[in-house]
Amino acid sequence: MRSAQVHHNLIGGHHLPASTGLAIDVVDPADGTVFATLPRSALADVDAAVAAARAALHGPWARMTATERGRVLSRLAALITAHHAELAALECRDTGKPIQQARVDITACARYFEYYGGAADKLHGETIPYAAGSTVMVLRVPHGVTAHIIPWNYPAQIFGRSVGGALAAGNACVVKPAEDACLTPLRISALALEAGLPPGALNVVCGLGAEAGAALAAHPGINHLSFTGSTVTGTAVAQAAAVNHVPVTLELGGKAPQIVFADADLDAALPVIVNAIVQNAGQTCSAGSRVLVERSIHDTVLERLAARFAALRTGRGADAPDCGPLISARQLARVQAKLDSAQQAGARVVARAQRLPDAPASGFYFPPALLADLPLDHEVAQDEVFGPVLAAFAFDGEDEAVQLANGTPYGLTAAVWTRDGSRALRLAHRIEAGQVFINNYGAGGGIELPFGGMKHSGYGREKALEGLRSFTTLKTVAILHG
Ligand code: NDP
Repeated sequence: MRSAQVHHNLIGGHHLPASTGLAIDVVDPADGTVFATLPRSALADVDAAVAAARAALHGPWARMTATERGRVLSRLAALITAHHAELAALECRDTGKPIQQARVDITACARYFEYYGGAADKLHGETIPYAAGSTVMVLRVPHGVTAHIIPWNYPAQIFGRSVGGALAAGNACVVKPAEDACLTPLRISALALEAGLPPGALNVVCGLGAEAGAALAAHPGINHLSFTGSTVTGTAVAQAAAVNHVPVTLELGGKAPQIVFADADLDAALPVIVNAIVQNAGQTCSAGSRVLVERSIHDTVLERLAARFAALRTGRGADAPDCGPLISARQLARVQAKLDSAQQAGARVVARAQRLPDAPASGFYFPPALLADLPLDHEVAQDEVFGPVLAAFAFDGEDEAVQLANGTPYGLTAAVWTRDGSRALRLAHRIEAGQVFINNYGAGGGIELPFGGMKHSGYGREKALEGLRSFTTLKTVAILHG
């Protein structure tokens, strides 16, 4: 058996082990084997990374023009593309996701650096006509040291969207990826050095959330924090950052409704609805985890969805199945417990996907499930499952559709399926969500589209130019010159 590959932190351009000397095992979700180790970092490593980032703000990185920063990011995008196959295979192995999804993720990661690289020198401040004999300039400046706590579901994509915007705006970054998915962020950060990013502008500290993550969120040396993950941890990091008055962007997941009216084009809608929950084994903040169906077509839709669910194949990511394993044994136990609880509360499993015979027994597989008769107040109807579980509910008329759609604590994304354009727009206005899709579903949408939540889905926006602006602050310079 080959020995596990040892990975290090990236601090100030150096690949370093954790100060603790401790390591974390990296487990392959497809079969439960350990194939690598990561440093189990502590406060001392976070201190070193924040200091390296601060130093970069006084070195060559700070002296680069916005155009030069943009060129570095464009070169990084090209390097990611050149290493596409290697990175996709790494993402597939580390997270378990199907290889075709991993390829999409690496393409998206490259696209974030391309997009923000191109935008770097189009970001500028403004002037304000003020008192006679004065000139007022509003400068748009980087925050300084930005902290990025990245989850395990889309490590390469979320790394790209977060770090791409922050670097384009001239910040220096400290990243804490999730202990279950550090490998592509580490590899892409090494490529960033090759692309000409000065050492210290991008630092990656691996470790446990409760140790390295908590140390970063509470660090007095950071100037901005971007977090994607659970509501509970998001609340904790925002509280920790508040002590230092550090602004925070929170992206905390959702309970996205797919609203299907009787006049919808079901041939177009149903494959998208299935994909919206099966993609990445349902471990997606914008997973379409509820399908709300107008009562007159409810049974037909359920029957057609059941046929699609039964045909889905769950297996090893490398074999390009419809659904890969979940990220970890812990996540598998969580999702299974939620399904059990839903069934105990009266939910009916209408259909279950197949598990491929060669999916190893030691892997973390959970074949997608379609539920009906789930009580509306059950936690599976209200809260994220973060697994491939779709719950169907019937509604009568627009008002009830809106009431159900808005009837959870979340408000990240939603979809409306109807041929009635006026109704689609009425619903788009009434639904409480950061993104509403009409007759399509983007599961997070494109890189160019502002993304973020309402209610308990969080605040602030990532992606798009809005995401770039969120990595800056304003400085007003008022000159009285007569
Ligand atoms: P967490 O929210 O705990 O993890 C997200 C990130 O925060 C990881 O990098 C994690 O590191 C880090 N973290 C954990 N605890 C702390 C802390 N005290 N201070 C600072 N950072 C911390 O999610 P889980 O992995 O526990 O998943 C639980 C549930 O969260 C999922 O079932 C899902 O519902 C939701 N979730 C939502 C995501 C989304 O995209 N909206 C993404 C991931 C999870 P580490 O992993 O090393 O502990």
